[in-house]
Amino acid sequence: MKLVKPRSTELDVNRYLGLLPELDELFHLIELMGDQGKVKLLGEVENSNRVFPLIGLVLGTEDKTAPTFSLFSGVHGLERIGSRVSLAYLRTFLQLLKWDRNTQEILQRSRFVLLPVINPVGMFLKRRSNGNGVDLMRNAPIQAENLSRFSLYGGHRISPRLPWYQGPSNAPMEYEAQVLCQFVKDEVFSSKLAISVDVHSGYGARDRFWFPYAKTRNPFKHLSEVFTLKSMLDQTYPNHIYKIEPQSNQYVTHGDLWDYLYEQHLNLEGNRLFLPFCLEMGSWLWVKKNFRQVFSILGVFNPIAQHRLQRTLRRHIHLFDFLHRAVQSPLSWAGLPATEKILIRKKALDLWYDD
Ligand SMILES: [Zn+2]
Repeated sequence: MKLVKPRSTELDVNRYLGLLPELDELFHLIELMGDQGKVKLLGEVENSNRVFPLIGLVLGTEDKTAPTFSLFSGVHGLERIGSRVSLAYLRTFLQLLKWDRNTQEILQRSRFVLLPVINPVGMFLKRRSNGNGVDLMRNAPIQAENLSRFSLYGGHRISPRLPWYQGPSNAPMEYEAQVLCQFVKDEVFSSKLAISVDVHSGYGARDRFWFPYAKTRNPFKHLSEVFTLKSMLDQTYPNHIYKIEPQSNQYVTHGDLWDYLYEQHLNLEGNRLFLPFCLEMGSWLWVKKNFRQVFSILGVFNPIAQHRLQRTLRRHIHLFDFLHRAVQSPLSWAGLPATEKILIRKKALDLWYDD
């Protein structure tokens, strides 16, 4: 895999047409967006004489301290449904922007940031890793605590031929991971209040909504904020489908990009909050209804039947909309007095860390 510095940051869509249906959908949406947002060619990755773009979108106010909601997807090349789901939300949002005054006003005081296809080469090659065989979600300079040396799944440095390869030791992060991290630092870190969601699929039969850490079972700093958000979601959408928990309740990994970014953000000065979530859509929901899917590599990670695909594409719009609203209305969850936060943190510890 070769890395290419883009010739210019202007996006010439014609250079990339027909490479991936997810990119073609993104180009449609860029056209629909018109001058309502900025398109950024963040980098290019080359594989087998094809050049793939890494494209970021930024909508809303120029004020980078404004509340920011951001969506990321396509880190794992097999989990194409993640990109479909984030693009489906973008499509709805752009259509609302045409006629809904609330949506138009939201963008005057907030920002909406997206990087919908982070690993286009992996997607093209139909594999989880990037073109170098590296699992981008094991690639950040983060060492997990108490992880067995024999756990391949948590990340390893044995060989790029095995899944979950972290990359060579002491090497810089992979290009796609660097581009993602730089984009988040440039477009999200200055915000006083930011929520991000990275969309994945494949683990288990439930849709899980994970917050840090992936690297340790120890609780992270902003537990009271997440617990309050969860309570708001439970009350506002009492029939929602999500299992909300720290990722490490399911498994612990090395090199999680969002653990890394969260900790980088903690080092910044000033009063600001950045909460990175991962939406892990349970693909066994799709597989168990159509078991033959298990014999196709994409079938394990994506809904195949048309009605199931449509159901998945509309399933998460409420969640994204809820989070998008939550960053603009922080008083009830991110602006709580310290005494109240201590009580809430205790409840959160009981719920998620009872061991
Ligand atoms: Zn994934």
